[in-house]
Formats: sequence, structure tokens, C-alpha cells
Amino acid sequence: MIRLLALLLSVCGFAAAQPRQTENVIFVMTDGLRWQEVFRGIDPLLINKESGVGNPDALRKLYWREDLNERRSALMPFLWNTMVKNGQIYGNRDAGSDAYVTNGFNFSYPGYNETLTGAPDARVNSNENIPNKNVTVLEWLHDKPAFKGKVAAFGAWDVISAITNGARGGFPANAGYDAFKATTNPTIALLNRLKVETGVWDEEPFDAYPFYTALEYMKAAKPRVLYISLGETDEWAHDGKYELYLKSAHRVDDYLRVLWETVQSTPGYRDHTTLIYSPDHGRGDAPEGWKHHGEKYPDSRYIWMAFMGPDTPALGERKNVPAVTQSQVAATLAGLLGQDYNAANAKAGQAITDVRKH
Ligand SMILES: [Zn+2]
Repeated sequence: MIRLLALLLSVCGFAAAQPRQTENVIFVMTDGLRWQEVFRGIDPLLINKESGVGNPDALRKLYWREDLNERRSALMPFLWNTMVKNGQIYGNRDAGSDAYVTNGFNFSYPGYNETLTGAPDARVNSNENIPNKNVTVLEWLHDKPAFKGKVAAFGAWDVISAITNGARGGFPANAGYDAFKATTNPTIALLNRLKVETGVWDEEPFDAYPFYTALEYMKAAKPRVLYISLGETDEWAHDGKYELYLKSAHRVDDYLRVLWETVQSTPGYRDHTTLIYSPDHGRGDAPEGWKHHGEKYPDSRYIWMAFMGPDTPALGERKNVPAVTQSQVAATLAGLLGQDYNAANAKAGQAITDVRKH
């Protein structure tokens, strides 16, 4: 009898459209990581002392492979071997897939604002640490009863707390060198302390601090929407340190693996969580432009975006597809959670339909 019921249920399940499975979203951004490294791997024009590589042979050994697929997997193994294999990535300009920023500035605050609100805003024209006037999809979700107390944002760059505006929204938005206080345990206390005792940049600590703080919070509070913005990829590139830029990209890739393993070993998250990964802008070309981005570098508008989760068809690396824009990410994220951001926000870019089967 039970077997018969199970059979009936499975048949009905197949007959009707399978319901949406995503209950949670983890969205990781890494600042200014170029599509060139993501899709082509290490750039051979930059494996030299002039580009801040102390030991070119050692770096080549780590990340250079003759074969393109092997090369990019060496740099970002989780992205290529797990996320793309089971999900989708947009933005390989070598394969007829463009992903780009529409705000025209090609720098951070406008890019985070476009990503998280779903629309470019000409008034958001500086990186000044001022509270975002716009409501992001994080705050919009948090205003719904199903997401109250279930949204959190973590950033390396101190301006991330102002951009996500958790102060107005009433959710944790921790960034820069600020101590995280929404939850506490000995690990978070130590992270808070080490964060202010280390670091090389005024505006952001190393990525490890926001990442491990977010991971602790994820395990303790089980947020439904977890946003993590990391910053080393941008800082090292501005500093002209290609080796450290690549190693940061590789480390962020491993953070994604850790997040995904945590998801898949945690009831409530397992098989009900979608992972999204993108940068806020691109950068210029080798041998000099890669350090920079902004209006003077028109090609720094090109980005990439990856999705993996129970509702995303495993179409892998997208090739010869219509362009997608940064402004589409917010509605896509909300849609995966069954929420129609486009209906609520007329300015927002449309959700990317291919990313969701239901
Ligand atoms: Zn940036």
C-alpha cells in the first residue's frame, strides 16, 4: 500500500510541473574579478615581475595549463567542476555570451547598487560611504514576513553596509573593520579581534574575516538570504599584484566550495538552496589596464554571473545566447525564491528566464 502510494505520488509529481525547490539563496560577489580570468584562466601576459609576480615559474606551475578547460579549472576548480557542471555561467565573450553592467560607471558602488536593486541609478555616482537611498532586493525580501530576521549581508569593503543599508532595513549588514555583534560565539569574537589587528587597506580587511564571520552566522542563524561581498580581488589588482589577485580569486572559489558543502550537509539548506556568484564590474586588459576599471575603461563593463541550485537547469557554460545585464540579477534572485521583484519594481531588469525551470 505504501509502495503504491509512493508510486502514485512520484507519477503525479512528474505529471504536474515540479514545484520550486529553492528556499534559500546564497549570493557571493567578488570585487572586480575579470571575465578574462574566469573563462580563460591565468593571463600569460601577466606572469612576470612587472605584474607583481614574485616567482613566475611557481605561479605558472600553479595555474598555467596548455588546455583551456584545465587552465581555468586550475584557477577556479569549484566554479568549473561543480557550479558550472550543475548550473550555468554567463559572460564568456569568446563564446558569444555577454554579461555587462548598465550603469555606465564601471566601479563599485554603482555596480553593487545595480546588482542589488535591479536598476542603474545615475545619482549613485561615487564610492562615498553614504547610506543607499535605494531599496535593495535584500531589504525588499526582508520586509516580507517569510524573510523577516532571515536576511544578512557581509562585506569586506566597509561601504557594503551602507549599500545594503541594513541599518534602515533592520537586518545584519556587517562590513569593513566593524565588529560583528548580531550573533556571538568564541570564533566570531576572535574574528572581530583579528580583523582590527591585521590588514593592509584602510577600507577593508582581508576576505577571510567577512567570509568566516558569515559562515559562523550561517550555521548559527540559518538565514534564508545570505549575501557575501569579498574585496581582495579588486584591491590586489589596483595594487598591481597579479599573483595575489589570482590567489584571492582561487581562495574565493574555495570559499564557495565550503559554503556549498555546508549547504549540502545542513537540513533545511540541503537541496533547497541556490548559489549565485558574480562581480560588481570588470577591468581593463593586460598589460596595464587590468589594474583599472571605470568610465575610462569601457570594457570594464563586462562581467559574468553563475547560478547553481535545485531549480536551475544544468545548461553549463552558456554560448551564443542573448546578452544578460547586471540589472537582471536582483529579479533573478527573488524569482528563485518565488518572489516577483519585477512586479514590485518597474525599473528592475527582467529575471533571467533560463536560470529557473519553474
Ligand atoms: Zn569594485
